[in-house]
Amino acid sequence: MKAEVVICGAGIAGISAAFFLAREGVREILLVDERPPLTLTSQYSTECYRNAWPQPAMRALMDRSVDWLEKLAGESGNRFRLNRRGYLYVVTQEAARERLLQRAAQLQGAGLRPMRVWKAQSSQEMERSQEGSEATGADLLLGSEVVLSRYPYLNPEAQAALFIRRAGWMSAQQLGMYLLEEARRAGVQVKMGRVNRVEVRKGRVVAVVLSDGSRVQTSRLVNAAGPMLEEVNALVGESFPVFTELHQKVAFHDVHRVVPRQAPLLILDEAQQLPWSEEEAQALQEDAEMRFLTETLPGGAHLRPEGGEASDGVLMLWEYRLQRMPPRWPLPLDPWMPEVILRGLTRLLPGLRVYWGHLPRPQVDGGYYTLTPDHLALIGPGETEGFYLIGALGGYGIMAACGAGELLMYHLLGKPLPDYATAFLPERFARGQWQVPEEDGKL
Ligand SMILES: Cc1cc2nc3c(=O)[nH]c(=O)nc-3n(C[C@H](O)[C@H](O)[C@H](O)COP(=O)(O)OP(=O)(O)OC[C@H]3O[C@@H](n4cnc5c(N)ncnc54)[C@H](O)[C@@H]3O)c2cc1C
Repeated sequence: MKAEVVICGAGIAGISAAFFLAREGVREILLVDERPPLTLTSQYSTECYRNAWPQPAMRALMDRSVDWLEKLAGESGNRFRLNRRGYLYVVTQEAARERLLQRAAQLQGAGLRPMRVWKAQSSQEMERSQEGSEATGADLLLGSEVVLSRYPYLNPEAQAALFIRRAGWMSAQQLGMYLLEEARRAGVQVKMGRVNRVEVRKGRVVAVVLSDGSRVQTSRLVNAAGPMLEEVNALVGESFPVFTELHQKVAFHDVHRVVPRQAPLLILDEAQQLPWSEEEAQALQEDAEMRFLTETLPGGAHLRPEGGEASDGVLMLWEYRLQRMPPRWPLPLDPWMPEVILRGLTRLLPGLRVYWGHLPRPQVDGGYYTLTPDHLALIGPGETEGFYLIGALGGYGIMAACGAGELLMYHLLGKPLPDYATAFLPERFARGQWQVPEEDGKL
């Protein structure tokens, strides 16, 4: 067999790379995966997107990616149900209010504009300012009166909120299938199998060998292996500082309709101590493994409605304990997670208290964030000639997929690169040109 380009991994990253290469007229693209397409990490995301990022390069990549999402939504009759409900970061404590203002300033500094500040009750004006799909930037809502005038279902103690406009969610599976179908139509071949070996001669990729023993002659291999990125890097003798973290999400049936169906993604942007009863707190204190649940837990608990008006689905997430670990399946899911997240989100939406101790049919799933120490993806060439990476997309791989796939295509075809390309170059680690991020921006 022969291929112009072999892509290892048919998650959203590999599929997007195939789509953009095929769109540019590259023929003989072989997309190889040991699983059916889109069935590993890409199947279990929260499917959200936003263009608000503290690093200018991330903001630029994401704006570009969202441009594509909007364009493809238009071309496909919005097959993947892209919406623009926005992200709402909420705080209820004075100290957290200061940090929210800093977050707003940082995002503004990275190019998120305009930043509209609302201090008096002005919901009608706010509504008007949000009309039209061009509304971008963010709204900073100061004071509980303003926050509650627009979001009456939130905790009356809400002191401030930051609303990101170019944000929302979609069906990631449908986006992936659309890109895959278009790629196939343009000639991309999909093969089930594992990339077991890569033949490199004189510093160049010459062939890949698959699990069925077949050898595919190629001069270009794209590593889009998601959480197995490093395993595939090792096949060409390369290594990057990549690690994985377990991230879980909980779906439940909001039978009491506590979460409005039209709500944005709601995020509690502050640390908190959970409201346990005396007996619960005592039982947790006595268990060395569980004691941490009585201490201050980090911010970032979030939720959103899932499905249309008729649905009662809600998704909620909160990484209250960081779990860095090598990927393994089945996932080591936390049976306490639904109740813990529920308690945490009750600070945001007091109505959720009705579910304490008996959440209707909670379902937990998830996967691994693949991350680099600066939390920026790896997009571009490796050291070996003909070897490329598109991965380490952390908790933003769905929203970044189109921008990342396009950028990979620019590299592979030797086209002029946009300014933001440098920040994602894999070689930044060998050169020591990277920084620990100020804000993790993983959400
Ligand atoms: C709980 C959770 C919530 C998330 N929420 C969001 C969100 O709201 N928005 C967002 O944008 N992102 C979100 N993400 C992140 C997003 O899901 C990922 O960044 C993205 O799916 C990564 O895609 P990928 O194609 O790189 O990896 P994957 O989807 O994991 O695909 C990698 C593929 O490579 C294949 N593979 C690996 N090794 C080999 C080999 N040797 N041979 C053949 N095939 C191989 C695997 O089988 C797999 O199919 C979330 C993730 C999680 C876990």
